Amino acid sequence: MRIAFVTPELAPWIKVGGLADVSASLARALSDLGHTIQVMVPVTGPESPPREAGIAGSSGTSGPTGFIWQITRISTRLEVVWISGAGFSDRVGGPYAQLSGEEWPDGVLRYGRLCEMLARTWISPQGRWGLRPDLVHVHDWPGGLLPLWIHSLGIPLPTVFTIHNLAYRGLFPHDVFERLGLAPEYWRTEGGVEFYGSGSCLKAGLIFASQLTTVSPSYAREILTPAFGNGLEGVLGKRTANLTGILNGIDTDTWNPATDPYLPAGYDLNDLSGKEQCRRVLAERRGLAGGDGPLAAFIGRLAEQKGIDRLMEIAPELVSRGWRLVILGRGMPDVERRLADLAGQHPGKIRALIEHSEPWAHLIEAGADVFLMPSHFEPCGLNQQYSQRYGTLPIVHAVGGLRDTVQDADRELHGTGFRYETDSSESFLSACLRAEGAWRDPVRWRVLQRRVMSIDSSWQTRARAYLRIYEDLLANASSTPS
Ligand code: ADP
Repeated sequence: MRIAFVTPELAPWIKVGGLADVSASLARALSDLGHTIQVMVPVTGPESPPREAGIAGSSGTSGPTGFIWQITRISTRLEVVWISGAGFSDRVGGPYAQLSGEEWPDGVLRYGRLCEMLARTWISPQGRWGLRPDLVHVHDWPGGLLPLWIHSLGIPLPTVFTIHNLAYRGLFPHDVFERLGLAPEYWRTEGGVEFYGSGSCLKAGLIFASQLTTVSPSYAREILTPAFGNGLEGVLGKRTANLTGILNGIDTDTWNPATDPYLPAGYDLNDLSGKEQCRRVLAERRGLAGGDGPLAAFIGRLAEQKGIDRLMEIAPELVSRGWRLVILGRGMPDVERRLADLAGQHPGKIRALIEHSEPWAHLIEAGADVFLMPSHFEPCGLNQQYSQRYGTLPIVHAVGGLRDTVQDADRELHGTGFRYETDSSESFLSACLRAEGAWRDPVRWRVLQRRVMSIDSSWQTRARAYLRIYEDLLANASSTPS
């Protein structure tokens, strides 16, 4: 199959969160399974990814103009199409927000025009450029208007839309809708983009894509409820026959404690002595030596979703019991400030690194004993899976993908972490204390570490679930009389 991916993030070049990792590793897994993948990603931010000499071009005369693309061939069946111009790439910041954290005011306009250009130029059989894919796979709201444009232009091409996070809806006012040049009938509540007075790119994707997927089976169920549906549960409820939850896999080459170049010592499940060394180096470098409790970690976007409020609430109790805590994250300025204050109040016990750092993320995963994920909601979550691979036991709120990847070691025969059901600080603390109990029993802890390190969270099997969806779509498309 020839598959076009459309995504705003692609690791390691353009990364805000897990979507970058998933776009890159799923594309690679699908190409390893014998399919041709072309990943289309706008270049955003000051650091331009390497664009080797390749085919370059710019968009034609119909539809939006000013887009420039360059192609990098990663392997025989995997290419990246870097799209620049037209308001992308000349800004300082990321795909969604400026360096200050404020969202780009023209984000929807730019992505909307990108979708139109892709539909007319790259995907349409009449288009001058492009892969002429068998199907298009769109990730999150920035590509949400693409299935709509494909519908509007009558292009007979199946589309898959993956919801990585329903909280980001790509909202826009009516005047942006008009500037995008979409036919007026698409501005309606039932079957259109209108969403409580705004337009929503995400809603467009949910309505016009042939198939919907999201990143874990539990999240696929949760988003049908008002508590997790962000107002879109009604729209999703009408599409349950076309909605599948597929657990995200991880890149087991990048996240491999035996070969990880960021670690002072490698290790595997047969010999965990390297992990001890990583712990020592992490504690020393971050001034966290001492304490007779677990070394705990948090890494993530500092967004409401991640439950940092819970973490800040229980942190003093944990450190009073001898725990040490290292936090790595960037995000809401207010949360960044409060975390820095918390660390300031507990010198030598809590460290907050307010930055984005791949090397630190790897060393922290390896050096920590436990990894904390008190997320209020979590579509899939990658960090708990990285933690398991690094022999670091996750302590999680049983929600979304965390529920699907972590079984409680006190309640299940083959537990793979610690989890709590009720979203409260008391439940979180009590799960941490249970984990501490296990950690204080070195024999039990070693058994748990070995068990989580042997989990197969690679894409090898999980990518096949996407292939089945593609194959069904193509089979239906070819059996539908034109
Ligand atoms: P989300 O997609 O909601 O951000 P995930 O757990 O799915 O959450 O993925 C988060 C990814 O981003 C992981 O690869 C994590 O290591 C990485 N990450 C988040 N914040 C940072 C940071 N400050 N430094 C390095 N990596 C980070």
